Amino acid sequence: MYASVIVDIAHSQVDKIFEYSCPDNLQPGSRVKVPFGGRYLDGFVIDVSPSCTLAPEKVKPIGEVFDELPALVPECFSLMERISSRFKVPKVSALRLFLPSEMRHGKVREIFKKYAKVKDMSAPISKRASKQHAALEYVLSEGECEYTALCKEFGASAVNALVKVGAIELFTRRIMRNPSPDILSEESAKTPTYMQANAIESIENSSKRVHLIHGVTGSGKTEIYLNLIAREIARGRTAIFLVPEISLTPQMLAQLRARFKGEAAILHSGLSAGEKFDEWWRLRSGEAKIAVGARSAIFAPLENLGIIIIDEEHDSSYVSETAPRYSTFDIALMRAEYNKCKLVLGSATPSVESYLGASRGEYNLVTLTERINKKPLPEIIISDMRKEVKRGNNSCFSTALKEELDSTLKSGNQAIIFLNRRGYSQKIICRDCGYVAKCENCDVSLTYHSEENCLKCHYCGAKYRMLSACPECGGVHIRYGGTGTQRVVADLKSLFPAARIIRMDNDTVSGKDGHYKILKTFGEKEADILVGTQMIAKGHDFPAVTLVGILDADMSLHFADYRSGERTFQLITQVSGRSGRADSKGKVVLQTYCPENYILRYAINYDYNGFFENEVRVREATHFPPFALICRVMVTSENDALALETLKKVYFAIEGLRATHPDEFIFLNKMHSPVKKIQGKVRYQTLMRLKSGALLEQIYSIAAANTSSGCLVYVEENPANLS
Ligand code: ADP
Ligand code: ZN
Repeated sequence: MYASVIVDIAHSQVDKIFEYSCPDNLQPGSRVKVPFGGRYLDGFVIDVSPSCTLAPEKVKPIGEVFDELPALVPECFSLMERISSRFKVPKVSALRLFLPSEMRHGKVREIFKKYAKVKDMSAPISKRASKQHAALEYVLSEGECEYTALCKEFGASAVNALVKVGAIELFTRRIMRNPSPDILSEESAKTPTYMQANAIESIENSSKRVHLIHGVTGSGKTEIYLNLIAREIARGRTAIFLVPEISLTPQMLAQLRARFKGEAAILHSGLSAGEKFDEWWRLRSGEAKIAVGARSAIFAPLENLGIIIIDEEHDSSYVSETAPRYSTFDIALMRAEYNKCKLVLGSATPSVESYLGASRGEYNLVTLTERINKKPLPEIIISDMRKEVKRGNNSCFSTALKEELDSTLKSGNQAIIFLNRRGYSQKIICRDCGYVAKCENCDVSLTYHSEENCLKCHYCGAKYRMLSACPECGGVHIRYGGTGTQRVVADLKSLFPAARIIRMDNDTVSGKDGHYKILKTFGEKEADILVGTQMIAKGHDFPAVTLVGILDADMSLHFADYRSGERTFQLITQVSGRSGRADSKGKVVLQTYCPENYILRYAINYDYNGFFENEVRVREATHFPPFALICRVMVTSENDALALETLKKVYFAIEGLRATHPDEFIFLNKMHSPVKKIQGKVRYQTLMRLKSGALLEQIYSIAAANTSSGCLVYVEENPANLS
C-alpha cells in the first residue's frame, strides 16, 4: 500500500503531497514519521491507496506511526482544501489548525501509571513476612492499587516480593490529566421558562442553518445553549461551545460539568501541554462529546457534530490574528455545512453583520426581550464629567457614583467599577516639551507600571527604567496621563477605607485558573468592589452586584475605527448587564465627557434596534462594512529597504487589479502602518475599501506571491484594529 503524506515543515512554501510505501492497515489521518531530505520529519497521511504515481523503487517506506487512532478526523481534509484555497495558505498550515502545537512533533505524550492487582492468593509467602501479607490483603480489598502509592505504604521490597512469587501482578493504564478539577458546580438543569422554551423550539424546528439569539443580558441564553446541546447528545451527536475569552471558560465549564460530567472537555491556551493533549484525545476518542473553549476550539476533533454555539458572537476575539486569519464564524459555517448541523450565535448586542443577516431572513432570528423572571434591566444614570471638573472634582469618580457606591456598600451589596485601560496610566508625557516615551522596537507609547516602577511596551513586552527627567529637554515635570486600574483602586481605598477591593486585569491575572480564582472570591462575597478592564465586562453572573460604574464610557468612541460606535454600544450594554441580576434592582453610573452622543443615548435606553437601524444607514451611506470590505495587505520585515520594495510590488499589482475592475474599488492607498515597527520589524500597508469580496482571491494570491524569506506579506479582512 502507498500513503499520500503532507510533510509538516515549518515556514515552508513546500505544498506538495509525497508518496511513501506503508503497512496495509495504515489509516488516513494518521500522524507518521517519514524520511525527507536526509532526515525524518512529521507528516500527515491524507490518503492510502494500492497504487502510486512514482516508480515503486523510488518510493521510501514511512517510519513510525504515532497513534492507534488517526489523529485527524476525515472532515479535516475537506476543510483543509477550503481553507487553503480561501486564504492561499499551504495545506499543511490548514492542517496544523486541527492539531494544537502540543500534538505535533511528539513533544507531549500520554502518561501511563503502573497498577497492582491480585493474581494468586495461594502463592507461597513466608509466614513471618507480615508486610507482604498486609500489602496483599490491602490489594485484595482495594481491587487495584497504584504501584508507587502501594510501595510507599508497605515498602518496595515487600511489594516486589509479592510480584516475584506471583501473588500480585502489575499492569499499566493510561492516565488522563484533568484540567482544573476543582472547577465544579452542583447546578442542575432548570425548567425552561416560556420564552426559553419558545427559543429552543424555534431553533429545533427552523430549517435554516444559522440561528441568531438576540437576548438581553440575563435573559437566560446559557440555559438555552445547554438544552440544545443536551438534545444533540441524546441523539448521539456532538457539540462545540465557543466562548470569547478564557475568563469565561471556567464558569461555563462548571455548568457543563454539572450537566454533562466527563462528556465536556476544555480546549484553551491556558492549559498545560499535557492537559491539552489529554483533553484533545478525550474528544478525538469519543469519550468526551462537547468541546468548550475559545476561538481555536472550533477545530475540535469531533465527528458527527450536531450543534456549534458561538456565545457573545460579536466579540472581536473570534477573528484570528495569525495566519490564516480566519473568522471563527466562517470556519463554523464550513463545519456546520459539512456535518449538516446547526450553528447558533448568541449575544445581547449582535454584530451589525449578524443582525443584518437575520433581518434579511438569511438566519433564524430568536429574540428574548426580557430578563429571567421579568427582572428589570438596570437604570443607567449619566454623569457629565465636564461639569464635575468645573465644580473642582478632580477624582476618578463623579459625585453621583460616590453616593451610589456609598449606599451600595452600606446595604451590603457589591459593585463593579469598569475602566477601559491597563496599567497605572496610559502614557508618560513631559509637560515642558511634550515628549512622549516610546518603545525603541515598536514605535508605540510606553505604559507605566507602578508595581515594578518601570515602563513597558504592550506590543513586545520590552521594559524600560522609569524616567526621572525628560531625555529631550531635561525637564522634570513628567506626568502620567490617564487613569488606570491601580489608580482607581488607590482612590477607592481612600474614599472607602473599610471596603474590600479586588482588581482584575492582565497584570493581576496569572495561571490558567487566575480569572476563576478572582471571580470566585468576588462571587463568594469576599470582596465588595471589583475593579477591572474588558475582562469583567461580560458573561459573569454575580447576584449581589447592584451597582456598576463605567469610568470612561466614551473612550472607545474616539478610536479611528468605523466600528467604534458599535464597540461602545456593546461595551456599555455588556457592562451594565452585570448589575441587578438577582432580587435587588440594579443601577449603572456612566461617566462621560460627551453625554449628548447618540450612541450613548441608544445604549442607556437599551434601544438595540434604534442603534442598529441608525448604524446600518450610516454604514450604507458611507460605504463601510457590511456594505463594503476593508482589506489591508500588510508588509513586514526587519529590512526596511526590502519591505519598501515589496510594498511597491504589491501596490503595483493591486493597481493593476483596479485598472481592470475600477468599479470594485472605493479607496486604495499605500502607507506606513500607524504602528511603524513591532518587535524590530517595520510595517507598511496597502489599505483598500472594496465594494465586495469579488477580488479577494486575487489579493490573497498577490500577497502569497510577494512573500519572501525576509519579508512577510499577509491579508487582513475587516481587521479588528488598524494599528
Ligand atoms: P444571559 O447569558 O442571557 O445573560 P444567563 O444565562 O446568565 O443570562 O441567565 C441569567 C440568570 O438566570 C442566571 O442566574 C441563570 O441561572 C438564571 N436562569 C436562567 N434560566 C432560568 C430558568 N429557566 N429558571 C430559573 N433561573 C434561570
Ligand atoms: Zn516594544
